[in-house]
Amino acid sequence: MPKKTTQKDFEVFKSEFLRWRRIFGLERYDITFQHGNTQKDRYAEISTNTFTSSTAIVRLSKTASSGADALDNDPKSSALHEALELLLVELNGLAESRYGIEEYAIEGATHRIINVLMPLLAGMKR
Ligand SMILES: [Zn+2]
Repeated sequence: MPKKTTQKDFEVFKSEFLRWRRIFGLERYDITFQHGNTQKDRYAEISTNTFTSSTAIVRLSKTASSGADALDNDPKSSALHEALELLLVELNGLAESRYGIEEYAIEGATHRIINVLMPLLAGMKR
């Protein structure tokens, strides 16, 4: 059964994302927030075009799927996850441009770092 996110969830998502952006020192990125459809039925996602500009679109799904992934999802932890992707985006882009390295391998490595950082950062005091 799809789980809907509310306008309040979206407000929490946006303010948490901006809070982590400040903590990570990523104010150079201009962020556009969208509350709507995500690709691949994700709860939230970020798309960046950091080679041509410092812009990013951060989306929260209005109708998140009830897949195994979605059970852990909430606006706060998803905002942290997407902010961590922004933290790693430059490294990720450079690595992807290297000849002979498969994209899925780099994405996997990026997410291993995210999964290490998330529980540590989620326990931080504001
Ligand atoms: Zn991710």
